[in-house]
Amino acid sequence: MKATFMYGAGDVRVIEVPDPRIVEPTDAIVRVVRGCICGSDLHPFHSLRASETGQHMGHEAIGVIEDVGADVRTLAKGDFVIIPFHLQDNTCAFCREGVHTSCIHGGWLAGGQGEALRLIQADGSAVKVPGVNPDTADDALLGSLLTLSDVYLTGWHAAFMGRVAPGKTVTVIGDGAVGLSAVLSAKEMGAERIILMGRHRVRTDLGREWGATHVVAARGAEGVAEVIELTGGEGSHVVLEAVGHMPAYEQAYGIVRPGGVISRVGVPQYEAASVGFGSLFGKNATLTGGPAPVRAYIDAAIPKVLNGEIDPGRVFDMTVGLDGVPAGYAAMDAREALKVMVDPTR
Ligand SMILES: [Zn+2]
Repeated sequence: MKATFMYGAGDVRVIEVPDPRIVEPTDAIVRVVRGCICGSDLHPFHSLRASETGQHMGHEAIGVIEDVGADVRTLAKGDFVIIPFHLQDNTCAFCREGVHTSCIHGGWLAGGQGEALRLIQADGSAVKVPGVNPDTADDALLGSLLTLSDVYLTGWHAAFMGRVAPGKTVTVIGDGAVGLSAVLSAKEMGAERIILMGRHRVRTDLGREWGATHVVAARGAEGVAEVIELTGGEGSHVVLEAVGHMPAYEQAYGIVRPGGVISRVGVPQYEAASVGFGSLFGKNATLTGGPAPVRAYIDAAIPKVLNGEIDPGRVFDMTVGLDGVPAGYAAMDAREALKVMVDPTR
């Protein structure tokens, strides 16, 4: 079968690999119905050290169960499932506390940009979607369900950890698919004002449709000054950082209001950062965020997609078959595509 591997910065290849098989009795094999390329895939696309083994790509997927191991209790061949980008047993101490991304039996999904994948901890990892036939459902519905694997619920996690609530001013840094999902989530949670910091018109227009009341295209000190001015000199109660690079973090502590919260979901491309008097401490600011425990939020999100309350799949603006995956990476990297869906059946 075909799968996507990255062998170094900018080097994405779709190659032929052996079909996945059950290894542990808690495994399942999933035929991928749709996968996609994540904004966070662009980080290794820029910086991955070259290797001969390569990195198996694709951590977002919806699919159909093809086979289950002897200990899998809740899934059967033919079930249509969403697979969160982090896999988990959904029973350990950290899972019970809602931090599924720290599951002691967990791991990261790979293979979503391919024809099939091996799923560990299948009972805890795959989430069944009742009443949808993936072979006849339209791409809009499949796309929205696919965003529950990562992007929309990562935006939701940002807003949840940021304690977004009615009356709050929320600033979202980044107009990528996660940033836009954070806008949508902040709106759902009742934010009064949502300032979207981004400079790509097509994206910020979708952000406005989803609830952004203001768009700030400027970055750095200029962008900070604009947000401070928009908030009457006070700053933003909540800042949702959906980029991951240092300038975005610097923007975040520049615009957060005294006593406010910075919630980061952009994968940080740094370990050391300012936390002292001039950044967080002086403002009594809270810094939170991390990889989204999608499993904690997905059960509540599925009905909202099925009943049409939200349509987070609108972040997809390009679809490729497996052979088009390398071009999909290039299009996202060049900002020609917001988010690329991968349809292995094409
Ligand atoms: Zn666990």
